[in-house]
Order: sequence, then C-alpha cells, then structure tokens
Amino acid sequence: MSKLAINGGPKVREGSWPSWPIWDDSDCQAVVDVVRSGQWWSVGGTKVKEFEETFAKYQDAAHGICVPNGTIALIVALQAAGIKAGDEVIVSPYTFIASASSIVQANAIPIFADIDPETMNISPAAVEAAITDKTAAIMAVHIAGMPADMDAIMEIARKYNLKVIEDAAQAHGARWRGKGVGSIGDAGTFSFQASKNLTSGEGGIITTCDQQIGDMAWSIHNVGRVKGGEWYEHPVMGCNYRMTEFQAAILLNQLKKLDAETARRNENGLYLAERLSKIDGIKPQKRDDRVTTHAYHLFITRYLAEEKTGVPRDVFMKAMAAEGIPLSVGYLPLYRSGMFELDQNSCPLGCGFYGKTVDYADLRLPNCEKLCDSEAMWLTQAVFLGSRKDMDDIADAFEKVMDNINEIKV
Ligand SMILES: *Cc1c(COP(=O)(O)O)cnc(C)c1O
Repeated sequence: MSKLAINGGPKVREGSWPSWPIWDDSDCQAVVDVVRSGQWWSVGGTKVKEFEETFAKYQDAAHGICVPNGTIALIVALQAAGIKAGDEVIVSPYTFIASASSIVQANAIPIFADIDPETMNISPAAVEAAITDKTAAIMAVHIAGMPADMDAIMEIARKYNLKVIEDAAQAHGARWRGKGVGSIGDAGTFSFQASKNLTSGEGGIITTCDQQIGDMAWSIHNVGRVKGGEWYEHPVMGCNYRMTEFQAAILLNQLKKLDAETARRNENGLYLAERLSKIDGIKPQKRDDRVTTHAYHLFITRYLAEEKTGVPRDVFMKAMAAEGIPLSVGYLPLYRSGMFELDQNSCPLGCGFYGKTVDYADLRLPNCEKLCDSEAMWLTQAVFLGSRKDMDDIADAFEKVMDNINEIKV
C-alpha cells in the first residue's frame, strides 16, 4: 500500500491557503475618497506626500520618494547616489532580475558576487574580493525579506569609499539590529507590486537618510525639476516617475495592518523553520542572530537529501505538491539570463567610460548555482498569514515524504 499522495495515498492537506492581497471596505473607501476629492495627482494631492513621510519613518529613514514600481526605485536610487556610466556595482546573483537590470539601466556594470549558502544573501567576503578600481557601489538585496549582513557591508563600503543601495523590495518592516532596512545604506528601495508584503498593485519608494540623495531622487522622479525651482525649469536629467494618489491611499490603509501581518509571518516562519530543521536533509534559510525582524516575503528552504536518498529536489517537490503543499523552485542565477549576452559593442558593457570588458558567459558562482539548480524550495508570504495548523500541515508533509522517500526513488 502506498502512503504518498503522489502514488494514490491520502493527502496531508486538502484545503486552500490564504490568498493575497487582503482587503476590505476601508480600502474601497480610501480609493473612493480620492476619486471624490478630485485630487488624483500627487502634485495637488496629499496622499503621496503623507505616505512618503509615514513609510520613510516606518523604516527609520528621513526621506521617501514614491515612484511607479520597485525597478524604477532602484534606477533612481543608483542615479541619485551618483552612479555613473562605466561604474561597477556589486550585486547578488540570487535575486529578482530588477536588482541587476536596474544597474544596466543606470548605464553601470553589474558585477556578481556569490552568496552565503546558508543565509542566501550576498557574501561580504565575495563582495570584498570583487572590488576593483571601477567599483562605485554595493547593492545589498535583502533576499526573502531577511536583511543582508549590513554590518560587514557598511564596513567594506567605508573602507573602499563605496555607496550602498539596499534593495528592500522584499523586506517591508524588516529590521537589522533594531534598525529599519532602507535606512542603513546610502539609499534603500521598496516595491509595492502585487506579490509584495505591502501592495497597491504596482508601486515603489526610495528611502534615504541623506538629504542630498533624497533631493536628487526627488528631482529625477519629477522630470528634473528642483525643489523651490520654477515649474518649467529642468536643471536635472529626469523622467516622470510619479505615483498616483489612488495608490498612496491604498498603501496608507494597508500599512496599518503591516505590523500585525509581519508579526504573524515571523511567528509562523520561526515555528516552521524550527520544525523543518529537525528533518534530516532539509535546511531552512539561516536567520542571522542580528536580524530583529525578517519580513518573510519568501520562506526558502534547502533540499540536501539527494545524495543520501537518490531523489532529486524536483521529484521531491512533485510529491509535496501531491500532498497539497505549494512549493516552487524560484530563481535561476541572474548572470545566466539572456539579457547578459549583451552587446559588447554598445553601452553599457562596451561603454567608452568603462574601458574594460566584462563577459558573463564563463562566470560560475557555485553557492548560487547549487541553490538554484538543486536545493531551493520556496513558500510565499501569504502562506505565513495562516494558522499554526497550516504550518503543521507543511511540516507534516515534509516529514511524510521524507519518511516514505523510497516510494519515489527514480
Ligand atoms: C519585486 C522586486 C523588485 C522589483 O520591483 P517591481 O515593483 O516589480 O518593479 C526588485 N528587487 C527585488 C528583490 C524584488 O523582489
């Protein structure tokens, strides 16, 4: 008799999982209020300004500038921090494409440094080894919502006089030694795209404690105007990257729930990690002791059982899906993306200001590759808004498939 659901046995989990976004009449009212006010635009309205101030403060930053999405937030943050054509920016290969494509959009060169296999964040030692005379900045991505090692990254940045941009697109409410992410580096960025822990469908913000970077980001997002300048004066090269009042109204309303949601994700995430840690061959993302709050945008766990059991991750995951557990494999190493077969005869890779060549074809970053190719298994944030019983179902399914792994030996 088969025990596993994939072979006709009973499923661990029949029911559905929490869906996202979570909304109620107060969100509808917030949008209706903006419609009725006739102030749909951030220049005349109050909602974008109020959200910028509220969210910047929420992350311990002094300034916030709302933009249409998290990718644009990264481009503007890089430009506002003074990253120029031909500069190198060191970034993790284990993240969403925007962390690296934004660097290319800013005319700079992404230099990939490997991750720490346990925390899955960029390895400070790999960052230091990747520094050249062209390096201008480090992009610290807080992957899954878990802060990168900001102590080590800031120390390296000070030593080599580099800027630090925090890509906190997955890390709303996350804290490193008590301090909000997005306020530790020179600038931080967040996304409010539909899957993120705080959302208005699309949206983004740049946060900073640096007045000059804040003013420059404001100018870039507002077609190159300067604060206090004339309406048709454009001293800075910018674009129209403004957010609408409708989005800010939803964000202000959704932000009221974020503390409670983050607390719940932390409680459930810690509990699940503790249960999974007891299973031989399953290893959740290591939570650094200096992480005060993990945003748990993702819960990533490693599958390390292939050698011992002969069952590869993808087969294990099929058995988990049959048990009713929604796991996915996640990212590929970014430097394998087709976009990095960039034309060496055009900018930015062939940029005259760069004066070097970069070729991603032979790049091998083994920690990232192992994680992507055979280890990573993801659960997403909404699952962690569920109950203790939901966590037990997930852990029970992991235990069940591991205990009966002989049934799926290939
Ligand atoms: C979502 C995401 C982005 C991009 O945000 P968008 O709002 O989708 O443009 C950037 N970096 C990371 C790590 C992300 O997860």
